[in-house]
Amino acid sequence: MANPIYTALPTTIFTVMSGLAREHDAINLGQGFPDEPGPEAIRRHAAEAVIHGDNQYPPMAGLPQLREAAARHYARFQGLDLDWKTEVTITSGATEALACAFLGLIEPGDEVIVFAPTYDSYAPMIRRAGGVPVIVRLEPPAWRFSRADLEAAFTSRTRLVVLNSPMNPTATVCLDEDLTLLAEFCVRHDVTAICDDVWEHVVFGGGSFRPLMTFPGMRERTVKIGSAGKMFALTGWKVGFLIAAPALTGALAKAHQFLTFTTAPNLQSAVAWGLENAAAWFAAMPVDLAASRDRLTAALRREGFVVLPSQGTYFLTVDLAASSVTEDDMAFCLRAVKEAGVAAIPISAFYEADPVTSIVRLCFAKRDETLDEGARRLATARDLSVAARP
Ligand code: PMP
Ligand code: GLN
Repeated sequence: MANPIYTALPTTIFTVMSGLAREHDAINLGQGFPDEPGPEAIRRHAAEAVIHGDNQYPPMAGLPQLREAAARHYARFQGLDLDWKTEVTITSGATEALACAFLGLIEPGDEVIVFAPTYDSYAPMIRRAGGVPVIVRLEPPAWRFSRADLEAAFTSRTRLVVLNSPMNPTATVCLDEDLTLLAEFCVRHDVTAICDDVWEHVVFGGGSFRPLMTFPGMRERTVKIGSAGKMFALTGWKVGFLIAAPALTGALAKAHQFLTFTTAPNLQSAVAWGLENAAAWFAAMPVDLAASRDRLTAALRREGFVVLPSQGTYFLTVDLAASSVTEDDMAFCLRAVKEAGVAAIPISAFYEADPVTSIVRLCFAKRDETLDEGARRLATARDLSVAARP
């Protein structure tokens, strides 16, 4: 018999919705990926590395030049002082880095605090590692946790807390005062924070990203996870950064050595080159994405949708209930992809129980004409939904 944690799991919503989008020839504003091909210079560097570079096993912890480049990158952008030799490991995407953190740090029965809506890989991997997810439910539209929430969630059994900011799917960025509060609880309860920082470069409004690792008491008790796929809009690349103080990195590296051992060397060398040479990219990307966000927001508002503010990520969310749609998010998303030719993500998929069911997530990392047509089709779906009301 198969493991019941996996047999009970549905197929991830991203695969389900992308499959339906293909089947129905729909515009895909569901799964989060840009429709531009990504920076050409970095792709050329990867191609060059495939032909002329070394294609045998790279070192287990990653190419030294990439680990050094990552340390320098985080010093430049986030003021972190990292020793690349003892604190930086390269993984096959943030997904592997998360698995390393859960497998490497959880002991059976440990409690792991996660915030809901919860990115869909966390809870199953926590359980598979023997942990018990403890869910703190956030409420729209602010999606913030309170001191009382943390008082109720942290216990003597808490081992880890998982923070995702900017947050997928809510598109919110954790405020400094909330980070300070979380750090206070981590220190008081001797808890390690797993920071899923994959969206760290997609923050709008000129605000810079502040890693929890820089808050008082957190330097030695934070695992910081990044994703080159997100940094460079090359989501298929699956090159991740796993960053932690040496004592934690030791355990994480043991998990990594038997999950994947290593990651494609040509992509690693292209990412290293990108980190050292793409200052202009990091400046332009959030500005370009903010323009796309604003375009989709305006188009949706013209169609009468209520759009919640998006502070970061490739995503914005629409409040269906406030937009005259009485169907739940899943029913609406199925109708939209099958009958109106536009795919979206129902955020109820980010809950195990008691979901918020009136909000859908849309990806705006798309060309203008795709966004305009997507908004029109979503309005068609809304009209069909209203017409079908009993
Ligand atoms: N965490 C979050 C919050 C994400 O949104 C994603 C991908 N969208 C990942 C992890 C996975 O990142 P990667 O593709 O580098 O594995
Ligand atoms: N994280 C991406 C999203 O939120 C999808 C990643 C995946 O398909 N597993 O859309």
